[in-house]
Amino acid sequence: MAVAFLATPWGARDESEWASFKHALRRTWLQTPHVAVGVLLVGICILWTDPERYVAARIEEGRSLIPPEPNRARSEDPAAWARREEVADAALAELKPLFDRDWRSQPWYVNRSVEVRFVVYTVVGLWLLLGVFRAVGADRDVPHVDRPPSCEICGYNLTGTPLEGRCPECGEPAVESLGISARPGVAWQRRLTKGRLRSWCRTALSAVARSNQFGRAIQRAADPMHHRRFFLLTLPLIFLVGYMGAVAVFVAGTGKNPMTEYPAVLWELAPICGGVALVSSVIGAMFAVWLTVQYYRLHGIHNVMALAMQTAAYLMSYIVLFLGLSAMLVMIAVEMRGFFNLLESVVGVDGKVLALVFWGLPTLIGVLGYFALVRRGTHGARYANR
Ligand SMILES: [Zn+2]
Repeated sequence: MAVAFLATPWGARDESEWASFKHALRRTWLQTPHVAVGVLLVGICILWTDPERYVAARIEEGRSLIPPEPNRARSEDPAAWARREEVADAALAELKPLFDRDWRSQPWYVNRSVEVRFVVYTVVGLWLLLGVFRAVGADRDVPHVDRPPSCEICGYNLTGTPLEGRCPECGEPAVESLGISARPGVAWQRRLTKGRLRSWCRTALSAVARSNQFGRAIQRAADPMHHRRFFLLTLPLIFLVGYMGAVAVFVAGTGKNPMTEYPAVLWELAPICGGVALVSSVIGAMFAVWLTVQYYRLHGIHNVMALAMQTAAYLMSYIVLFLGLSAMLVMIAVEMRGFFNLLESVVGVDGKVLALVFWGLPTLIGVLGYFALVRRGTHGARYANR
């Protein structure tokens, strides 16, 4: 249900939200056999990579894969205890290389079980999610909705109003709503003739800077492939921003070079950060669509989900920008930790909390900004005639 809910905006068409949700639920349900395959794969992976099994096998052979734990019992006499600790550490240091060599002789998927499991879980999770989104977004026949020609500003029914006339309700020239040049579609839809990069930049810029006007260009009948492709193209960028942000914060915080000193940052921490940025952006976008739909339902305007989804997809460029700024703020907060500690002694609030507020408040405003932009864009699109 939750996955279907999440995927509903992806497959939304010119129909009621309820119809979109029912469609998403049906398609998600049809994907459930994949879950069985996923569970099977994860189970095999867990059994295969379980280090405990290999440790137990060695013990059966009469040897151990793990160095014996030296006696570290606490004693009343601190001096004697410290001496014993020293002896224990020395004994362990001597034994460790031998055991390490033995451990490395085990299969690679046991040595690196944590990484192998992480990769398998990620791949299985992505595969399932991708399957659901592909199924929900698959082409389908949606009966055409017959709407009277209406004013694109106020929604007034313009039947009988001449093209040279004005909307009797708000005074907008009728030609702006019904003329051939009204609602031309977004720049991205003309990318094949105008150049992909140029169209991408123009669409990204106007979606963020002039979201209401941008909404007035969005077409109800546009092929969903347009906005979906735009959406998918921004995902690698979002991953990259999360990845680079994590590396930059690490360098700012430790002053160490991850290339030479901490390779794990490059292929563990940073990819996880990139993945988290990616997943939360997708969830955030779908959630923004749902919120916008609810907002317009309350105002008596229905069937805007497909329009809100288009707006949210074209605004993914805003998320790239916003994530970059947020990562920069973390870096600044890490660089200025001395300043926050100083502030702690002045105002009496924990320096870490101050740094968190320093980063969290603008970031929260940025998130709300995305929601506001999706609503504004949908506002320009809500009475679309074509
Ligand atoms: Zn009007």
